[in-house]
Amino acid sequence: MSSDQVATGVINLSEGDSSLANEIKELGGEELMECIQCAKCAAACPMVLAGFPFFNKRIIQAIFLGLRDALLDDSSIWACQSCNRCTEVCPREVNPFEIIQAMRRVAIREFALPTLSIEGLKSLYDTGHAVYLAGAGNTRAKVGLPEKPPSTVANPEALKELQAVIRKTALADLGIIPMDESGVKETCEV
Ligand code: SF4
Ligand code: SF4
Repeated sequence: MSSDQVATGVINLSEGDSSLANEIKELGGEELMECIQCAKCAAACPMVLAGFPFFNKRIIQAIFLGLRDALLDDSSIWACQSCNRCTEVCPREVNPFEIIQAMRRVAIREFALPTLSIEGLKSLYDTGHAVYLAGAGNTRAKVGLPEKPPSTVANPEALKELQAVIRKTALADLGIIPMDESGVKETCEV
């Protein structure tokens, strides 16, 4: 079932993938079935204001309906800002944020990643930050900050540990990130 079919409002439930909900539960969305679709999470979610076709409540609804292809064809699951407002307001302790993370894991398994996310993952491996401005050192210094933030960028040993962990994930199997085992790369220098 495609995102076009969802956009037109025509959903053939017989084409739904009934295995999707179980996959989500196995990948971290254990409380999925507790959702009563009350929409409190949607009222708190910045993805709604940004106009994404799918957001926390609708992503959960789509999982219930088995709309695997529609969710993977659309980039909405990558728009979550990890603010966790949804987690705070949910009356059923569903943890919608974790449901979205589980759906991202499904997408990674199927290599359904938008280009921007691949760039973010490459940056995460190289620096420890999904978004990192390598040339920001001078600007930081001008406002009295250390040129490198107090993170993996300034801690090569921590970055090596992070890279070792990432090399053990499904990302390594997919081969989308060049993973250099020799250690911290030049790209993390500011
Ligand atoms: S996840 Fe929680 S807040 Fe969101 S619709 Fe389901 S029950 Fe309501
Ligand atoms: S964590 Fe994601 S889904 Fe939850 S409110 Fe924030 S942006 Fe929305």
